[in-house]
Amino acid sequence: MAIDGNKIIHAVMEGSRIRDAKGIIPLFGVYLSLFFVQFYNKLSFDFEKERGMELEDESVALLVEAAQECGYATFQGIRNSSEWEELVRPMIETREDQIYSFAAVAVAFGWGDLVVRELIPNEKLVMRVNDSYEATGYLHLHGQGNSGKCYMLRGVSGAFMDLLYGEDYPEGCFTFVAEEPFCRAKGDPYCEFSARKTSGKRQG
Ligand SMILES: [Zn+2]
Repeated sequence: MAIDGNKIIHAVMEGSRIRDAKGIIPLFGVYLSLFFVQFYNKLSFDFEKERGMELEDESVALLVEAAQECGYATFQGIRNSSEWEELVRPMIETREDQIYSFAAVAVAFGWGDLVVRELIPNEKLVMRVNDSYEATGYLHLHGQGNSGKCYMLRGVSGAFMDLLYGEDYPEGCFTFVAEEPFCRAKGDPYCEFSARKTSGKRQG
């Protein structure tokens, strides 16, 4: 059975109607909350701007790493949840099917219209997103940039591969590193993320 992304998206959207008193959404074994993308974008891009051009590479790396660690822990929780067991597990035939399921969950979370373009097991993942909120936010706040600005989705792309091909959780984070060769924030028609295996594990 192929992965039915729409089935996953509908289940997550249906489940996300349930909120506790603080507005937390307990779903797929993790705690989610509604968050204003404009606020997230402002925090993220102000962090990069305030630290200045000379620290730009380091600032970007920090934002991508934060997203990768978050994606790694979040999707580990998701794939060990009872909802996953009930809804997704029966559709999974190959190890790689997990990536398609992760992408469907991320679509339902509102992270973008993620589409897997290429997946070479244990080597490479390419995902395309047409409506990244980070690219939209960057263009709105700062106009066209000269590099990819979708740090969250970039980190998440690496995390998806880490969860499949890295060492067992929690040792496998940063086994892969993702780039964003195409981004709407720098004038491309879409954003594209490419995760590849790192040559050595990150230190520290
Ligand atoms: Zn982008």
